[in-house]
Amino acid sequence: MQGIKAVYDKEPKATIAIIGLGGTGCLVAELLARNNFSLVLVDRDEVEESNLERQILYTAQDIGKLKVDAAKSKLSNPNITTYNFNLDQTNIKDIRADLFVDCTDNMETRFLINDYCKQQSIPWIHTAAIKDQGSVMLIKPKGPCFNCFMQGKQGEVCDDAGVLNSTVTTISSLAVELIIKYLCGKDLPHGLIVYNNMATMKVNINQWSDCPTCNGDYKYLQEKKQLRLFCPAGKYHIFLNKKIDLEEARQKLKTEAQPTENYLYDEEKDITVYNYGRIIIKAPSQEQAQKTFESYFHD
Ligand SMILES: [Zn+2]
Repeated sequence: MQGIKAVYDKEPKATIAIIGLGGTGCLVAELLARNNFSLVLVDRDEVEESNLERQILYTAQDIGKLKVDAAKSKLSNPNITTYNFNLDQTNIKDIRADLFVDCTDNMETRFLINDYCKQQSIPWIHTAAIKDQGSVMLIKPKGPCFNCFMQGKQGEVCDDAGVLNSTVTTISSLAVELIIKYLCGKDLPHGLIVYNNMATMKVNINQWSDCPTCNGDYKYLQEKKQLRLFCPAGKYHIFLNKKIDLEEARQKLKTEAQPTENYLYDEEKDITVYNYGRIIIKAPSQEQAQKTFESYFHD
């Protein structure tokens, strides 16, 4: 590990779990792989054409492949484990890592990682990027957590404004620098690094005395309700606790669309059904999404 050794005279041997292989996840994986960290890559999606502009591990030849497979084939590092699943309270326990990096775009997963890492005393890094702004936060096993920062707000942002690929690069670099410094034993404060208007600013995070997570109430690790809704990019994602038979779904939707191996996309209704138990519905409100879901998928 020449790079790190040259700067810090240390060779941290660590396994890092990267949750989400979008723009930030690709870059974080690339930088960490080149520093010889062992990686666990977690992502549920396939590569789409719209990903190529900022998700640097994929090319046009990868469209339709699983992101975890496409990413692993590009990284020159033998120590990579992959999981093609939607991270939830049952499978997060399968991930063996010394540090987690949140490279997702949804709050549900962030709170899940926060609860799990707090319970297991694992450090993790939260990242976020939108338009030309972003933030990075180191959450250490002891001290304030992500829930302390959010103070109970669920705060899903329904925004498909996109993000500059250069902003994604900045946020990824800040995240990797935090990881390396932390694993080399640098004394880093609890805090949020905010990147805005081409400048960074540090914001102090304090412990929230009513924080459920810090008080041992890990509600995101408990059994899921039948469905949960959140909506990145103005689309509502519904997670069921069971696999979905795509042929059955096709009949329920009364669509001519043919399922692929993993999903069924009904273009007319703008509904996507994934066989591992996720349904995405475009709707103007949560109520409407719920209504649409019930009208087709009530048992
Ligand atoms: Zn907390």
